[in-house]
Amino acid sequence: MTQLDTFPGFGEHAPLDVSPGTLTFAAQAARGRTFRTALDAFAETAAAVGFCSHPIRLNGSSMTIDTTTGVVVSEYHGADAPMGQLYRPCGNRRADVCPACSRIYARDTFAMIRSGLLGGKTVPETVAQNPLVFATLTAPSFGHVHGTRPKNGHKAGGTCRPYDRTKTCPHGRSMSCMRVHTDTDPIVGSPLCWDCYDFTTAVVWQWHAPELWRRFTIALRRALASYLGLTDSQLRDVCSVQYAKVAEYQARGLVHFHALIRLDGPDGPGSPAPVDGTTLAGLIEQAARGVRLDVPPVDGADVPRVLAFGTQLDVRTVRTGLPGTAAHSDVEDARTSDTLVPEQVAGYLAKYATKSTNVDPASPRPHLARLTRECRRLADRAATACRPDGYEPEEDEDGCVCGTCIDSPYRLLAKWAHMLGFRGHFSTKSRRYSVTLGRLRAARARYARLKAQAERDGQPLDVTDLERRLLADDEETTLVVQGSWTYAGTGWSTNGEKELAEAAAARAREYAQWKAAQNRPGQPA
Ligand SMILES: [Zn+2]
Ligand SMILES: [Zn+2]
Ligand SMILES: [Zn+2]
Ligand SMILES: [Zn+2]
Repeated sequence: MTQLDTFPGFGEHAPLDVSPGTLTFAAQAARGRTFRTALDAFAETAAAVGFCSHPIRLNGSSMTIDTTTGVVVSEYHGADAPMGQLYRPCGNRRADVCPACSRIYARDTFAMIRSGLLGGKTVPETVAQNPLVFATLTAPSFGHVHGTRPKNGHKAGGTCRPYDRTKTCPHGRSMSCMRVHTDTDPIVGSPLCWDCYDFTTAVVWQWHAPELWRRFTIALRRALASYLGLTDSQLRDVCSVQYAKVAEYQARGLVHFHALIRLDGPDGPGSPAPVDGTTLAGLIEQAARGVRLDVPPVDGADVPRVLAFGTQLDVRTVRTGLPGTAAHSDVEDARTSDTLVPEQVAGYLAKYATKSTNVDPASPRPHLARLTRECRRLADRAATACRPDGYEPEEDEDGCVCGTCIDSPYRLLAKWAHMLGFRGHFSTKSRRYSVTLGRLRAARARYARLKAQAERDGQPLDVTDLERRLLADDEETTLVVQGSWTYAGTGWSTNGEKELAEAAAARAREYAQWKAAQNRPGQPA
């Protein structure tokens, strides 16, 4: 691993690669600093926020007080900070909004998922013996769409839709497409016929997708209970289903759920489960295929629907959990076989969690913009569902004549139009799956405090039992921090600073990826 030092353009202390002509640092120049000090101030601030693209700026101060003595141990004034204000990272999940913060989110998600797979971070190591299944639950088809197709073992390169070449839809449009699309082709995910495609049901499905998932978890518990010949309440004394799940937008704008589902025994994580991973996979498939959800019509002109997951269902056993089998198969290379290595699955999930809808407000893909409009349209219809046919409202009327349209489940759809009607969380886990993201964040803040303290004292950081101390539930301290901060704004003061922060973040990311590639596969860098 001596090559670690030779990664081009990045070392532990590589200087920021800028010359005085490229940046202005308006704020610092105005305060009479030289370019060099201004650059140092920026570099220190940018590093402190992890090269966030849109840091939040705060004015104010904080005091650390020892509650046993009432003595002010230390004071911190934003005005004394290198750039004259306190900068905090934006914390955005999405890679297209803030690459740096998104990466931290991905790393935390990875750590959360990994510890539920292999133990660590407050989860017992024996959890690695529990049966584990990786499942992808999809949205049904609402009409044929253009897409990238596999060819010769590659993900793309195949013909879009070479079937039904002589057939036309009721609108006279061809039902086949002989083109080969690439990932970046804006047509990917859009309908072959916009009039045939059922945008309304697509949005209604997406709106209810979180409830479909909840029904699935109930169905899985019932399937397990019936397999074991138990009642639902007896099942709780025998085993528990734990999962980490991530929602990912597909090209057509609908979410898929990717989930790692683990079966624990009666005493929680690490205690032996009553069925193996292969049986669990079978029950998951049965439960997913059986889920149905009756949903009401949007208005009088609409129809009631029965929603389900798509027939494309991917359920794979990651670990059987049988005694005598390896906790995970690290001897087989997942790139050359179908075997899933738990850490790689954690890596996929963490990456999915940072994806966005791909609705670029400046130039949205037309079919995604259409879904956004459909959300608003359905919310409008739901708000006036009781209006009789042909009723012409007066100008100042809101259209509802019954007073109960406000209770329609669809009335909030417009609020979620920018998410294409998906109102769920992107990364969720069941309570006992593993450590929470909040606890990981708290541990990171605690680490930063300990490190800063050690640096102030000129001492090396005491690493004895560090992880346990960082993740401890309660901090044994008599010190409290009292702050009074006001919001001053968001973002760097010049575009040059933002670009520099993003360039530094990109370089740090490339370096970390390169370093991770030297170590083990799967982990997001
Ligand atoms: Zn950020
Ligand atoms: Zn096509
Ligand atoms: Zn058509
Ligand atoms: Zn009404």
